[in-house]
Amino acid sequence: MARYTGPVCRLCRRERSKLFLKGERCYSLKCPVSEAVTDRHSRAYPPGEHGRDRMRQGSEYQVQLREKQKARRIYGVLEKQFRNMYEDASRRKGITGEILLAMLEMRLDNVVFRSRYGSSRAQARQLVRHGHILVNSKRVTIPSYRLRPGDKVSLSEDARGMAVVRRNLELVDRAVPVWLATEGGLGDVTVLSEPKRSEIDETVREQLIVELYSK
Ligand code: SF4
Repeated sequence: MARYTGPVCRLCRRERSKLFLKGERCYSLKCPVSEAVTDRHSRAYPPGEHGRDRMRQGSEYQVQLREKQKARRIYGVLEKQFRNMYEDASRRKGITGEILLAMLEMRLDNVVFRSRYGSSRAQARQLVRHGHILVNSKRVTIPSYRLRPGDKVSLSEDARGMAVVRRNLELVDRAVPVWLATEGGLGDVTVLSEPKRSEIDETVREQLIVELYSK
């Protein structure tokens, strides 16, 4: 499937916020949009020759569009797939925006990332694609695979010996969300429930996405 392969920091600069797409680097002073970087070195403005000119607030449509792009980029989902997820969410009972976010969180690559097996969603996706992740003891290689409450996610025998996975579990300083139960270390992770909005720490304003798509 097609995917974005360009420089990812550029995406954060375009959205003018940290999307945490690069693992450890995102928490360091190397991040070009880090607030801790001095003004002189900060590149917290949109990329391109006229990047600084695009700093002003746009129209209502532009604000909604940017919020949708931000969500897409955080979860690494292409437009068509994102749109289909929205259509699915809008058919379900409840608040569409919150259901959409919960569906994004229930993707296998996201759960691998949340479980700290991967330092970023991109790395988590690679672990899935390369067959290192099992769901209910069966190998699943589809990053967008949608998990259900009760599903058990675990590492393959090979992945348990991988230095990168061990390093992530040791060093990634990110709490596992309450809707996942982890046995700790290399142990299995169980999906307890679909996450509620209050249990998702992404700063996406999902209502704007709904407004954009329901035009
Ligand atoms: Fe790059 Fe991460 Fe900073 Fe985004 S948050 S600009 S991906 S280092």
